[in-house]
Order: sequence, then structure tokens, then C-alpha cells
Amino acid sequence: MTIKSVTPIILDLPFDVGTTQSSFAGRPRQMAMLLIRVETESGLVGWGEAFGYAVWPATQMAIEKIIAPMVVGQDETNIKSLMDDLQRQLHLLGRTGPVVYALSGLDIALWDIAGKKANQPLATLLGGAKHTDFSVYASLVRYNDGPLIARQAKAALDQGFSAIKLHEIDVAHVATARNAIGDHVPLMMDTNCPWSTEEAISKAQSLQKYNLHWLEEPIYPPEDFLALARVRKEGRVKIAAGENAMSPTDFRALFDANAVDFAQPSVTKVGGVSEMKRIIDLAGDRKVKLIPHSPYFGPGLLATMHLCATIEPDTLIEYSYVKLGANPVGEAVRLKNGRLQLPLGAGLGFDPDPDIVSRYQLKS
Ligand SMILES: [Mg+2]
Repeated sequence: MTIKSVTPIILDLPFDVGTTQSSFAGRPRQMAMLLIRVETESGLVGWGEAFGYAVWPATQMAIEKIIAPMVVGQDETNIKSLMDDLQRQLHLLGRTGPVVYALSGLDIALWDIAGKKANQPLATLLGGAKHTDFSVYASLVRYNDGPLIARQAKAALDQGFSAIKLHEIDVAHVATARNAIGDHVPLMMDTNCPWSTEEAISKAQSLQKYNLHWLEEPIYPPEDFLALARVRKEGRVKIAAGENAMSPTDFRALFDANAVDFAQPSVTKVGGVSEMKRIIDLAGDRKVKLIPHSPYFGPGLLATMHLCATIEPDTLIEYSYVKLGANPVGEAVRLKNGRLQLPLGAGLGFDPDPDIVSRYQLKS
């Protein structure tokens, strides 16, 4: 078969995070879903998702101006060969960032097409689902507001989430959350790379009494794996990282440095299903627990679920604690008793609702 078109579609979805004071990457928070629609000459359509939020414009440009012209007319059936070739040709544009986010979305869409062609769920193509029912943790946005943190953490627990992750950087806010949810619920703190190594060690030590399940990305720059290993050892706290790592090679270095207890590759950022599968296999070989980064709502979350279905023993799935006013794959990622169920249709198992896509599509 042959790829006929590769089209980025940006949805600006209505949302409620419990506060109006919320930003992301220096911009006002936006729940933009960057879908990638791939159609073949034979009429099959696959859907992928590239990292979106408020930083989608550069990725959209990478798809439209660089990647789509390279892949239209190519055979989509050998995903490995096609993606490896693209990665090699485009490496001078960086091994992470918008181009690799775009490749991630393309790769997910190609796997969706492969599943549809074989009439099999993606998990089956990846070796078979060992689980179809997942525990999820609530990933709260940063509130920087003690009473609101307590309220949101407690509300998430009441809805059946099995663990709570904060995106705060203040130790006092961890104390507040721990107090709100009690001593036995797993609590994580994701800081998004704010501190020097020495600051992070000191913060980690002061966090010990709150029994964190993990401390996530405590240092800048995130790729300083030796510094991260020092925080893990001297701070005596479990460390999670990987959403900003860029390839299996990077994860090998992360593991060689003994820097993490939990590896967090991100399917919409790291190169899609193909690279995620390699990283999952590597983490398995190294006996490192893998819990993907997946604050997504669309094909990125569906792809994560299919990948997680192949991991033994089972793994937690990150689920953004955000109320969306509409979601084109909402039926497939709706929590039931605080858990997610793998959709078992062909490919990703669920296509975006065309009415929702059309209603919320950003027109340029
Ligand atoms: Mg994170």
C-alpha cells in the first residue's frame, strides 16, 4: 500500500482544571490535542497523536512542511524501515522536540493502520495483551494553593484513583496533600526540572517524612543523569524520570547511571509505539520499573494502554486530572471505578468522533 496523505489536526478542547491560574511552558494552559491523520491509497485511515498542549505550532509545522512531503507516496507496511529512515534523515533537526514529536504521532498512526489491516488490536501486534484492565493515578496540575491541592487530591481519591501525583515544587504542599489523603495512598511529586543538584538533594531529604512513592524530574537540565543519580542516592528518595529522554540510547544511559527507580518514556514524544516498545524491552532487561508518561486524552493515551497491556507485571497509567468538555475518543478512555479498560477493536481500538473533531478543530 501507499501513504496518500498525512494531516495534522489541532483540537482546542474545553477544559476545567479547577483553577483559572494555570500555565504550561510559559503560555496560558491550553488543552490542544494534536491529531495526525494518515490515509492510504487503499482508503485505510490511521490516527496518531503528537505532543500538543500549548506547544503544538512548531510540531504542526514540522508535519506539514517537512515530514508529510517525505512520506506521501511511501509504502507504510514496513513501519520499522520507514521510521528508521526518517529518524536518520532528520536527526540534524534534533533528537527530541517538535520533529520527533511529529514522528511520534506518525508512528502511532502507522501502527493503527497496521492493526486495522490485520484486524487485530495493537497490543496483539506487540506480542499480546497480558492485561486489559489498568490501575490509574491522578496527575494533578500545579495549583500552588494549599486548600485547593487538598480538595483536588481528596476528590481524585474519592473518584477511585489509586494514587495521586502533584505537580508542585513546595515541600509544604506535599505535606498538605499527604494530610488530606492519609498515610497509605501512594503520593508522587512531579517538579518539572526546577532545581540544582544540591537543592534537589536538600529538598529530597526534607521530603522523606512524607513517604513519596517517587520524586519526578527534580533537576535541571533533565539529561544530567549523573546528577540525578546523586539526588537518588544522597536524597534517599525514589526517582522517576524519562519524559524528556529521547531514545532507547538515552534510556540506556539513564539506567547505566542508576538514576531512576521508575522510567517514564512518553509515546507522543519519544518516537511513537516503535521506540516505546524498544524502551519497554530495555527496561525489562534492566529490571527497571516502567510507568509511562501519558498525560494525554486521545490516541496517545490509547497507544500507551496497548503498550502497557504487554508489560508484566502490570503497570500504573498516568491520567490527567482534568475535566474535558469534549474528547473525540472519550468513550474509550472513560474511567470505570477508577480504572481504564483496553479497547479491543482493531488498531488503537477507537477512532476519533468526527463530529467532535469538526466542532473543536482549530482553523488556521
Ligand atoms: Mg512529569
